Amino acid sequence: MPDTRHEHALIVGAGPIGLACAISAKRRGLDPMVIDSGAIANSIVGYPIGMRFFTTPERLEIGNHPIVSSGPKTTREEALMYYRGVTRAEELRVQTYTRLVDAAPAAAHIACTVETRHGQETWTCDRLVLATGYFDHPNTLGVEGEDLPHVSHYFREAHEAYGLDVVVIGGKNSAVESALQLFRAGARVTLVHRRAEFTKSVKYWLRPDIENRIAFGEIAAHLGARVCQITPTHVSVQTAEGSKVEVQADRVYAMIGFHPDFDLFERIGIEYDVDSGRPTFNSDTLETNVPRVYLAGSPTTGRRISEVFIENGRFDGEKVFGDLESRERAQELYRSINRPRGE
Ligand code: NAP
Repeated sequence: MPDTRHEHALIVGAGPIGLACAISAKRRGLDPMVIDSGAIANSIVGYPIGMRFFTTPERLEIGNHPIVSSGPKTTREEALMYYRGVTRAEELRVQTYTRLVDAAPAAAHIACTVETRHGQETWTCDRLVLATGYFDHPNTLGVEGEDLPHVSHYFREAHEAYGLDVVVIGGKNSAVESALQLFRAGARVTLVHRRAEFTKSVKYWLRPDIENRIAFGEIAAHLGARVCQITPTHVSVQTAEGSKVEVQADRVYAMIGFHPDFDLFERIGIEYDVDSGRPTFNSDTLETNVPRVYLAGSPTTGRRISEVFIENGRFDGEKVFGDLESRERAQELYRSINRPRGE
């Protein structure tokens, strides 16, 4: 097998946004190649078992394929089935477990170093789209002990923590949802959040639940507090009052968010602001400062990952592969999704 091959359009990331980009390309006569370092919709694979999306089902749809959900909110498992089905129905070329290591733009094409299950290969492409999401890159606390085996930046299932002392760090939706699930599965939960209160972005059905559990003493909480160190048995917390407490912890869930793959940006030469993480790109076409290299979905937002999600990022392929009219339409759809919905 030759180790160099050429693709007109190479899309990196087989999540909802990457697949939507591939559909946009296909509907314009291209036959894009989609690669993913994991499975199809690999971030959703990593979501908690049985998770229900906050959003309504139709906002997860791509390529006008209808999603079928058993209830008002789509589950993780239904979403995985849906994105597999769309891939098959659209006959998208997807190569899973294949990672983009590097890309070097040259005059004629972009040379890509790609790691497949069988080793490293060099591919070339005319157009490279990074729909790489953020889920592989959790934020870190930067404290001693964060890399201990009982510390995780992901939450999979509450059941396994029955009867254990657990510490959940963070104060937005992932932290609050996992703290509640862990509590209901019989774990003794302490939540440590750096803010004095929960912000409005915590969903309206979760916020009173967590506040009441804390008020009733069912979940312990240190608000306005900072984690200083993690040991195999404890988490050291500096409280809002300035004292230090040692909280017992068999497991620690650092649910402190994610960021795009800045190292990949740097290797490719995509400029970004170090503080905000915002990359340089044309907001009409999503082309970066590196010619013929595009971003789609959350990597466009830098560290503010909750600005672009499946609901609005799914139109990005129309900006990358569409004409002026489809870009304007995509922009309109994007705005309609971002309009406050009274939630
Ligand atoms: P997030 O919204 O980025 O929140 C991260 C939390 O960690 C914030 O409370 C933040 O504090 C805190 N934090 C960040 N860095 C920290 C540090 N160094 N030390 C201490 N605390 C730190 O992340 P997320 O909750 O994982 O949510 C990610 C996305 O997934 C969001 O778009 C969310 O809506 C979505 N989500 C969806 C579902 C669902 O559909 N079922 C469930 C969960 C999450 P500050 O508050 O001070 O910023």
